[in-house]
Amino acid sequence: MQTMRAMLFEAPGHRLKMAKLPVPQPGSGQVLLKIHACGVCHTDLHILDGELGDPKLPLVLGHQIVGTIVQLGLGANRFQIGNRVGVPWLGATDGNCRYCKRGQENLCDHPVFTGYNVDGGFAEYAVADERFCFPLLLAYTDVQAAPLLCAGLIGYRAYHMAGENVETLGIYGFGAAAHIIAQVAKHEGRKVYAFTRPGDTAAQSFALRQGANWTGDSTQAPPENLDAALIFAPVGPLVVTALKATHKGGVVVCGGIHMSDIPAFPYNLLWEERLIRSVANLTRRDGEEFLALAPQVPVRTEVTVFPLERANEALTQLRKGQLVGAAVITIAPD
Ligand SMILES: [Zn+2]
Ligand SMILES: [Zn+2]
Repeated sequence: MQTMRAMLFEAPGHRLKMAKLPVPQPGSGQVLLKIHACGVCHTDLHILDGELGDPKLPLVLGHQIVGTIVQLGLGANRFQIGNRVGVPWLGATDGNCRYCKRGQENLCDHPVFTGYNVDGGFAEYAVADERFCFPLLLAYTDVQAAPLLCAGLIGYRAYHMAGENVETLGIYGFGAAAHIIAQVAKHEGRKVYAFTRPGDTAAQSFALRQGANWTGDSTQAPPENLDAALIFAPVGPLVVTALKATHKGGVVVCGGIHMSDIPAFPYNLLWEERLIRSVANLTRRDGEEFLALAPQVPVRTEVTVFPLERANEALTQLRKGQLVGAAVITIAPD
């Protein structure tokens, strides 16, 4: 039996452990990928901490997989061996629930999430449903492409939800998703105001390098009111902070899968048709649109690379807010 190295998650509160696992075999409609790189996401921390219930255990985390197809399962014919593809968070759906039928597959009643319900990309190999893989453009190297697959896709969906009439866009939490979406927003002619943890001057200068018009602490008010705010930090009180900064009709979009409690606030902050909404997961259409748009901007991802065996370090640095841009795990060739 062929084996592979994988960083294994055994239970909430435990660090990942290097393990030898059997190389998975692609089932019907699946492909086997040899993984080159896999992005690290805040969602991985929420799984590690037990904030997202009932993960597969033990589990290989990682849902921004860039790899090359090395084997096709029965009936898999969308790609060829040797094709480079990306595997995102949405690994499969049932295809027939009320949401799937309405074009809202991101809300599917029976979804399969990569690196959560099935093994993900902190390993040498992974299997994936070919229908949910994205062909990857040559314009991006493996490590540059990886953050596009969740930070980029979810960021794009959140940005899209802010609507069309956005001249001034606030972004709270300037990490992987924010640095990508700031570039898209600037490309589309919007003003970007970036908010970071108080005193995080590294993230503030990073935001300015990505084209932000202004940066400041999340405790500060922006120089002018916002038409929309995207919240990528898992910090509930920021919802109230962001609402206070919006124009009439302003939209506050929560981009994360988990957030601390939102404190009570007076109704007049929501009055005048302000809107708070969340964004859940992604649809394949989001992915196709965003991956077509990214090279036109062109989006440039800033990454900090960690070899597979140092995945815990990547997660710790993400947790402490020590990373500038996106963390990516790389898997050295055999
Ligand atoms: Zn993610
Ligand atoms: Zn469904």
